[in-house]
Amino acid sequence: MSRQRSRSVKYYCCPVCGKNSTDRIAIEKHYRERHPVKIDEVIYCNICGAGWRVNAYGDRGARERAAACYQSHIDNGDMDETAGRAFFLSGGSFGYVNVKKGGLQDGKKEKEPGKRE
Ligand SMILES: [Zn+2]
Ligand SMILES: [Zn+2]
Repeated sequence: MSRQRSRSVKYYCCPVCGKNSTDRIAIEKHYRERHPVKIDEVIYCNICGAGWRVNAYGDRGARERAAACYQSHIDNGDMDETAGRAFFLSGGSFGYVNVKKGGLQDGKKEKEPGKRE
């Protein structure tokens, strides 16, 4: 057998605590037994996508904060703008894009400055 200049050893790491071993089965077992699945819930503002964790704020606290955030967009008047940005950044999970009804059929009127076709 010829000597090799290098060799690779795979270590399997627990994603939670970083414990590692070359024994994959042992780590998988460790992970399952030591780290039960944790549940957390996040309440999101439907306009900007900001979220509040229920574990941190409580169910009610998280909902109130998300509702307050939602309301702040209405109060600030940046609702459509923020929602449009959030919509594209989140791939459609949050926000919305304002499509004016009837605006697409009748192209003559209601052209807004700065908007590209
Ligand atoms: Zn672990
Ligand atoms: Zn918001």
